[in-house]
Amino acid sequence: MNLPVKFPTQKKPKYITKLDQVPELSSQEKEALQPVAEKYIFRSNDYYNSLINWDDPDDPIRKIIMPDVQEMDEWGRLDASSEEAYTKVKGLEHKYSSTALLLVNEVCAAYCRFCFRKRLFMDENEEVTKDISEGLEYIKNHKEVSNILLTGGDPMIMATTKLEPIIKKLREIDHVNIIRIGTKIPAFNPYRIINDPSLLEMINKYSTPEKKIYVMAHFNHPRELTDDAVKGLDLLSKAGAALINQTPMIQGVNDNPEVLTELFNKLSFMGIPPYYVFLCRPTSGNKSYSVPIEKAYEIFETARTRCSGLAKRARLVMSHATGKIEVAAMTQKTIVFKYTRAAEDIDSGKVMVFNRKPEASWLDDYENPVEEYSVLSSPANQKSDVQLSFDPVDEILIG
Ligand code: SF4
Repeated sequence: MNLPVKFPTQKKPKYITKLDQVPELSSQEKEALQPVAEKYIFRSNDYYNSLINWDDPDDPIRKIIMPDVQEMDEWGRLDASSEEAYTKVKGLEHKYSSTALLLVNEVCAAYCRFCFRKRLFMDENEEVTKDISEGLEYIKNHKEVSNILLTGGDPMIMATTKLEPIIKKLREIDHVNIIRIGTKIPAFNPYRIINDPSLLEMINKYSTPEKKIYVMAHFNHPRELTDDAVKGLDLLSKAGAALINQTPMIQGVNDNPEVLTELFNKLSFMGIPPYYVFLCRPTSGNKSYSVPIEKAYEIFETARTRCSGLAKRARLVMSHATGKIEVAAMTQKTIVFKYTRAAEDIDSGKVMVFNRKPEASWLDDYENPVEEYSVLSSPANQKSDVQLSFDPVDEILIG
């Protein structure tokens, strides 16, 4: 499966921001794709483009990074999970009690075509700020927030001199235990890690034995795990970061049991737990990347049958406006969803059973549930003196 990667190590990749800078595209392709690149920003680099097999028009790496005319199809909306509704102060989202998101920038090393945050890369937006002082104040005043996810954009594209003060300030807040960095830098540009010892020193300083920094890596396909990507991940791990991986299931990229099995297995060999596999949100421009839920479940479960226990820890979930909902099971007639995180405590752990609908790609596509169960509304728990805490330990511990 691995293609030979010719890119020299220790090199700084060059950005590619125009289709004209991609010699492998024909002039007809450039002309057809230009309106797409104007609507949804295009950016890659020469390292990542070197992973593409240009002889294959359906190459999965190409699908991740190169515009596709199908993105012009009308579908979904820009903020498909209503993230803006959970924005408490500029740059901070707080949806689940224990976890808050700090959106620290609106730039990525390259842009995934299927991104659900593409709205942040368009014109002005009020959701991201470089001044995180309001967000820090909010976190200080919310003692229930024990996890902070730094996201955007990609926090790791920032110079270490810009990233470190944010992490330092978060470490000064006693109730913040876990700092997560959501990043696709290890896949898009591992040289950002390999060539910057100060980044590794910073991780080493602030990822302590008691309070770790988690790097939430984003590898979609095993071919992204090049020798240099593996080296970058290993350096982060040796610096003291805890690593995990999460990926959406993307049509034409990893909607295939063999590909997912290989990805899960390789990650597990490296000591990186596969965490979430996300269903694509119904985000504008993303119709051709989305996989229907029931098909995704079959692919996901087939892949898991070929993995060891350590490799099969991922959960298939959707980030719905109301919470993170796992596709927990499927029968001949029904599909079973379960909230793993919920915006409202009453939904926490709630199970919903629906009649199957093969074309559904989001929870909202199903009719009313045929059955529902919630531990909170069960008579046993309503009578119980036991104090239920719905500040769940992160799923990674029980996955
Ligand atoms: S790295 Fe993440 S935020 Fe950036 S384009 Fe890809 S999915 Fe979107």
